[in-house]
Amino acid sequence: MIDEKLEGIFADVVRRNPGELEFQQAVREVLESLGPVLVKDPELAEHKVIERICEPERQVIFRVPWQDDTGEIQINRGFRVEFNSALGPYKGGLRFHPSVHLGTVKFLGFEQTFKNALTGMPIGGGKGGADFDPKGRSDTEVMRFCQSFMTELYRHLGEHTDVPAGDVGVGTREIGYLFGQYKRITNRYESGVLTGKGIDWSGALVRTEATGYGTVFFARKMLAARGDSLDGKTCVVSGSGNVAVYAIEKVNQLGGRVVACSDSDGYVVDEKGIDVEVLKAVKLDERGRIADYADRCGTARFHTKGSVWEVPCDVALPCATQNELTGRDAAALIRNGCIAVAEGANMPTTPEGVRAFLDAGVLFGPGKAANAGGVATSALEMQQNASRDSWTFEHTEARLAEIMASIHDRCFATADEFGAPGNYVVGANIASFLKVGRAMVALGLV
Ligand code: GLU
Repeated sequence: MIDEKLEGIFADVVRRNPGELEFQQAVREVLESLGPVLVKDPELAEHKVIERICEPERQVIFRVPWQDDTGEIQINRGFRVEFNSALGPYKGGLRFHPSVHLGTVKFLGFEQTFKNALTGMPIGGGKGGADFDPKGRSDTEVMRFCQSFMTELYRHLGEHTDVPAGDVGVGTREIGYLFGQYKRITNRYESGVLTGKGIDWSGALVRTEATGYGTVFFARKMLAARGDSLDGKTCVVSGSGNVAVYAIEKVNQLGGRVVACSDSDGYVVDEKGIDVEVLKAVKLDERGRIADYADRCGTARFHTKGSVWEVPCDVALPCATQNELTGRDAAALIRNGCIAVAEGANMPTTPEGVRAFLDAGVLFGPGKAANAGGVATSALEMQQNASRDSWTFEHTEARLAEIMASIHDRCFATADEFGAPGNYVVGANIASFLKVGRAMVALGLV
């Protein structure tokens, strides 16, 4: 339920952003938490901070023409939504996926603003991408696409202005081509303009692993707050991309066992525990399908019917994409005894799913808190670039663990303070809103 004072603001967001359902959903979810804030901090309402925060500072949409390997001309649409720069330069990934449209990028940029605030690092929020489908494309096609994309985007970027990174469909390969083109056009080796770079060319250790590792650190902290741990826990992870793979690796390291993961074709169940090295080879190195994992691991079964969330587990980590875990899935997880959920993807649980978890007393870590480890480590990459330094894996991972612990504690304490003990959704929304909102007031009407 939204506080009645906020209903009008939400109605306006719907009217001004027609058809952008994911964006409307993300805004609604934040507004549902903000009722008590207006009572405690009326100055924010006077300054119309909520209305301002829902409107991106700048949005860029551009044509991306390129030639495929057969010589045919292809046209895609590129986006960058620079959402909020009250806390620092716009920061957030680029997503290449055929489903990407302005509403997707806006929802992700909105979420990013709050997530980045929670990290405690000096970064604003932004997001970008294109409706380009990298699946089945050769390296040279991906390179030509990235070069064309950056030929427009470069003019909007800068280490103090806007700093993209990866997201779905954008990894080290794509960041390499984008960085190469930026460097060529500007004649500057400006390391801090992109994060998620390769470690040989001014990237940072742990950035690749950070989102997945961070999500597991967050789950561990939620369990610890209830006197429990990951040791001996059965986990199910959705997805099998970069976030999922490193979440699985960290669960294994911390004594849990991941028995299932998925991709858009189906899911595999491996009661012995997913072999993360085989998974990395199949999904990350060979860019293959999860069905190939089952072919290689004799103990694994591949399923195309039903949902990965029907596999019984103690801890669920949705690491695939938005709205992948529905109210029905949540009911199945609760029925099977799930006690904790931490979101590795952005908004993977539908509003019905979130409600079901909260009502059932399941520990629920929303993405803007639980998956903030990726962007937090991007901020650490920016720090290393600015000081022309490079830190060890151990040191960087320790920083990541500290950051995740402090995000957890801030969400936990804020939920308590605002009368919703144990509700990390309320805690994350209010803590991040207050941080961005107070900075906006301090910076004046800009
Ligand atoms: N795309 C990631 C996210 O959703 C990382 C963004 C970044 O590192 O800038 O947070």
